[in-house]
Amino acid sequence: MINFETPKPIAQINNVVETVAVNMMRPVSRHFDENEHEIPWEYINFMHQAVKSMGGTSMAPEEAKPKLGGPEKKKYPPIAYQRLAHMVEMLSWGDAGMYLCIPGGLLGSAAVAATGTTEQKKRFLPRLTGDKPAFDAMAMTEPQAGSDTSAIRATAMRDSATNEWILNGEKIFVTAGHKAMVDSEGFTVVWASIDLSAGRAGMRAFVVESGTPGCAVTKMEHKLGIRVSDTVSMVFQDCRIPFENILGSNDGSDFCFHSRQGTSSLVKRGAYRQLGFYHDIIDITIGVEVGVDRLNADIAYQDRGDSCSYERHIAMIKNLVQPPAIKPIYRLKPVAKILGRFVVL
Ligand SMILES: Cc1cc2nc3c(=O)[nH]c(=O)nc-3n(C[C@H](O)[C@H](O)[C@H](O)COP(=O)(O)OP(=O)(O)OC[C@H]3O[C@@H](n4cnc5c(N)ncnc54)[C@H](O)[C@@H]3O)c2cc1C
Repeated sequence: MINFETPKPIAQINNVVETVAVNMMRPVSRHFDENEHEIPWEYINFMHQAVKSMGGTSMAPEEAKPKLGGPEKKKYPPIAYQRLAHMVEMLSWGDAGMYLCIPGGLLGSAAVAATGTTEQKKRFLPRLTGDKPAFDAMAMTEPQAGSDTSAIRATAMRDSATNEWILNGEKIFVTAGHKAMVDSEGFTVVWASIDLSAGRAGMRAFVVESGTPGCAVTKMEHKLGIRVSDTVSMVFQDCRIPFENILGSNDGSDFCFHSRQGTSSLVKRGAYRQLGFYHDIIDITIGVEVGVDRLNADIAYQDRGDSCSYERHIAMIKNLVQPPAIKPIYRLKPVAKILGRFVVL
């Protein structure tokens, strides 16, 4: 029989998280809402230590996570997403904006963790579990490129004399951009084109570290809600970053959106993952980040040789068309073929 009771490990962590929501978030929630852009450092420092004491963010590479003493932890059934959903729900009840102020583990580090090389993970992720809180952000949206990320106009030109990328362009609506680039020694993953004429195939992601000359936070939005979480505009003006800061590989070639090779590039892995989400919580995903999803969905469908598209998927949600037959990704491999029946992608 199906048991609808909350699993014990989730109930336990829920109690802890509820204590944080009740005692650390709710009492100051209104204050930070009325004093937009004031930073809740006491809460941030507490959460930073709390996350570290639990082993650091799940994004950090093993060698970058703080080592915990004591006996080996008991292994529980895989309930990570269920636990995460409960935690997010409880923390958002505390204050959705403050929930977004938990250092580390935001969109930028997710991109590095999913697609960065081992060297890149070692360079960028350990700061999230360092002595001081650090933040990360993802800058994709531009004034003319929201859902339609193919309209991105930020550029990254290579200077082979100095072996650097030179970024130029403007990004808007960057969550935690100020905390990542001004208030901490964090970083932002910036989407830019290395060849505007190539359309999406020219798109790459670059890690820009806090304090890099030529990168400036130019505006902090005044919002109607989740106000303690900063949402900013950024300008890149001849912003030079090391060549190795291109995400995915040293020359960026495995980042090509059209690649049908079995590489572990950002887009392909991210796309497949997000497609997994699409079938499960598509309405939530689209509501939150339609731009990222649109791009990734189209690429994933293309890579799978699937005739579906983002537009078609939208229509599916609206019950206008029937879902396409789901194919396993690695259909050429017989074992994966069998697994594919169970792994709904
Ligand atoms: C609080 C906040 C935080 C954000 N944080 C970040 C961040 O950290 N990094 C970042 O890069 N961006 C961020 N964004 C930007 C966000 O990703 C974009 O707002 C989003 O991609 C939508 O783009 P847009 O606002 O230009 O709306 P539009 O693209 O103009 O869309 C407007 C409406 O049209 C719908 N629509 C668009 N295209 C289609 C279509 N083809 N079919 C059907 N409906 C469609 C959309 O669903 C939406 O309802 C943030 C935005 C907000 C509000």
